[in-house]
Amino acid sequence: MRSHPDDIPTSRPDRAARRALLRTALGGGVGLALGARPAEAATTVDDPRPTTPDAALRELARGNRRWRTRHQTHPHETTADRRAAVLGQRPFALVLGCIDSRVPPELVFDQGLGDLMTVRSAGEVLDEAVLGSIAYGVLELGIPLVVVLGHQSCGAVSAAVHADETGERPPAHIDYLTERIRPAINRNQSGSARIDATITANVRLVRSRLAAEPDLAAEVEAGRLAIVGARYELDSQLVHRIA
Ligand SMILES: [Zn+2]
Repeated sequence: MRSHPDDIPTSRPDRAARRALLRTALGGGVGLALGARPAEAATTVDDPRPTTPDAALRELARGNRRWRTRHQTHPHETTADRRAAVLGQRPFALVLGCIDSRVPPELVFDQGLGDLMTVRSAGEVLDEAVLGSIAYGVLELGIPLVVVLGHQSCGAVSAAVHADETGERPPAHIDYLTERIRPAINRNQSGSARIDATITANVRLVRSRLAAEPDLAAEVEAGRLAIVGARYELDSQLVHRIA
């Protein structure tokens, strides 16, 4: 995943104070120290967890490179990491991904305990629970990066295209998903090319809807958050950013 420093804002110092207030309000108690960000708490020098959008993007890119070249380090799985996890969390990125079993964010970005907050719904579809989960990660935990992660051969997108083309209504609650993906359906192509183009368009659609959320937009405007779209390719295991 390539980072684009030009369009990724930098963090500002007033953030730390706000986070401290939020954690106090949440009654973090003993967990405050490890739940805090490095700028405001004593942290060990061997914990380089990113605190800015561009640093978070770089770490995800490095992790994906390790994954696709089979040089995973499986970070933050030690006994000490597990003990530290009891005291709090400080994830550096939130990944909104599909439910697909072939695209687990912690694996494809080679991250460990406490590194990523993951929200998963079929086709990365947004609903109130998904939006609330993302808002919690960004507004309460101060996560500096949200990645909307689509993927090659997405079954939810395929189902949406199929329903659109045939007029058949998917069973049970699946139609809720396909109806939300429908606005992203590519009208210029057909067959598998249409599905693939729709996968990318759906990432863009979800990303733009998140970026339009007032509370998230304010964080982006303040330079504390980046919201990016990306795709995972099953064949190459590469995550690449969608402009
Ligand atoms: Zn999928």
